[in-house]
Amino acid sequence: MATVHAPELLIIMSGNATPDEVEHVVARLEEAGAQAHVTPGKQATVIGAIGDRELISSLPLEGYAGVEQVLPILKPYKLVSREISPDPTVIDVRGRRIGDGYFGFIAGPCTVENREQTLVTARAVAAVGCTMLRGGAFKPRTSPYTFQGLGQEGLEILAEAREETGLPLVTELMDPREVEPVVETADVIQIGARNMQNFSLLAEVGKARKPVLLKRGPSASIEELLMAAEYVVREGNAQVILCERGIKTFETATRFTLDIGAIPVLKQETHLPVIVDPSHAAGRRDLVLPLARAAVAAGADGIIVEVHPEPEHALCDAAQQIPVADFPHFADEIRALSSLMGKVVG
Ligand code: PEP
Ligand code: MN
Repeated sequence: MATVHAPELLIIMSGNATPDEVEHVVARLEEAGAQAHVTPGKQATVIGAIGDRELISSLPLEGYAGVEQVLPILKPYKLVSREISPDPTVIDVRGRRIGDGYFGFIAGPCTVENREQTLVTARAVAAVGCTMLRGGAFKPRTSPYTFQGLGQEGLEILAEAREETGLPLVTELMDPREVEPVVETADVIQIGARNMQNFSLLAEVGKARKPVLLKRGPSASIEELLMAAEYVVREGNAQVILCERGIKTFETATRFTLDIGAIPVLKQETHLPVIVDPSHAAGRRDLVLPLARAAVAAGADGIIVEVHPEPEHALCDAAQQIPVADFPHFADEIRALSSLMGKVVG
């Protein structure tokens, strides 16, 4: 079986290294049969050397002009790590940004149920300054006897909502057989919690030229989430947004337990933006705002929340969706808090 090499060494160039010196290091690595992953940074350029560790280590890298330091990458995740890209990644979706100082405010229904419900919600979230519209056309449901989403028709309704409001769309891809229609319509491809370790799906979206919103599995560790992101980035798609959405614990008062600690840990470990879904974590609408506040205060780069014109009639996640009528207040709170944290709603 073929061995797949990971980036093994970090070559940190000095702050005043010239482009020719960077090129020289890359050329020597390639001559030796290794690959180079070059990340220009604000302070210095970092080169990740991918290949056989022994072979790379045999090169006199430290002696090359412009090289400041050569370090092993000790973490199992490589391309998503802060070590390889010290500067935060900013993801631009049709001019809306997430990451660094930009806060992504994503809202919309859990599920596209019909045209009216989706358009009413889309207008409401656009009116309060959200940056993207969420909504599922293909739904992962715990019971096979509940509404599974409108599929292709749902995608068409979402496209109409984007046309009218100008908001980019976040929608879930569940099955490698649905890559084509979902990737064509979505502006951000959501990989749901249940599919976080569906490695063939991760490889598919790794080949797509659109950003991916990767949700943490309810039983996945932070390291497993980062390794899942590594699968996507390794295929060439570096535009990954990570999402903490609550994990399974012994606690039953909330639907899942929102792991607030994951936010600062992820922000230290990776350069990728980290957002929070307080709706699925809470499972109850009265807890969505306090959890969203906690997420912003802990340094999240955005939130994704569920909103519905009449939650009591929602076909999915009725208990946690915020009524459209209450959403302006919710949005005011989030905007105020994100500006307190020095962020701009992107
Ligand atoms: C959703 O966002 O509608 C959803 C199903 O979320 P999760 O995958 O986090 O359960
Ligand atoms: Mn939902």
